[in-house]
Amino acid sequence: MTSNYFAISRSRQEELSDLAEFIANEYCPDVTIEPELIAKKQGISYCYGNYEDSFDGLTEHEFGKFHIFINLDRHSHEGSERMRFTFGHELGHYFIDEHRNALMSGQTPSHPSFTDFSSKNPAEVEADFFSASLLMPKNRIVKYCFRKKFNFSIIEELSLKYKVSTTATALKFATIGNHPIMIVRSSNNKIDWFKRSHDFPYKWPKGLKKQLPEYTLAGTFFKNCTQYKETLPITANEWFENVREKDVDRPFYERCIYSEKYNYVLSVIWED
Ligand SMILES: [Zn+2]
Repeated sequence: MTSNYFAISRSRQEELSDLAEFIANEYCPDVTIEPELIAKKQGISYCYGNYEDSFDGLTEHEFGKFHIFINLDRHSHEGSERMRFTFGHELGHYFIDEHRNALMSGQTPSHPSFTDFSSKNPAEVEADFFSASLLMPKNRIVKYCFRKKFNFSIIEELSLKYKVSTTATALKFATIGNHPIMIVRSSNNKIDWFKRSHDFPYKWPKGLKKQLPEYTLAGTFFKNCTQYKETLPITANEWFENVREKDVDRPFYERCIYSEKYNYVLSVIWED
């Protein structure tokens, strides 16, 4: 399994989330978070360019100045959700003390960042976590979810409101939302990675390192290309390992997002 947010300790997650929230509230108190504006106010220069597949973003430190490069070739358009996320990630390399110090001292040469949630490098995982926390500040998300009963439209609404991809929004919701969810990303009928809220009732999805479980929505897609645009019921036994006899029919819901461009299916799973 690839690294994930949960590979960062809970205390470190809190530290990064607080730092990001502080910056968001300082520079963008009541509007959508604008990474470019934050860079400008910090005196960080930036540019958008065509760098083929070499990186999503890159932060350089030279002669006491920071510069952020954003690669247009790896993003659909300027201002896209993914580009905002990449920009937030690069700001993480600037705002997180350890990252900035490493760049300034030249210990770590500028490294290319790929912000597709599959990096194993701890600094990259931290910068992704920072970006999600910057673009979706905890206090605002918690306030938004307060007393709302969970359904998938909450993820969609947050994604639109904060201009963040559904994947990043679901991941954020799994760490600070008010309802436990599991997220499974799969491609070619295999699980790429999965993440879950700490209080989700099951630890493991079925089919790790094998085929996806056949009767799940994601499994059905890989079997016969059927795409479901709605939320559908499934049972514990269909998706999870180690389900007790009496719980095999325990009802859950699954909703899928199909990315034709990147060729994956994202499943969000929850219990009522
Ligand atoms: Zn990076």
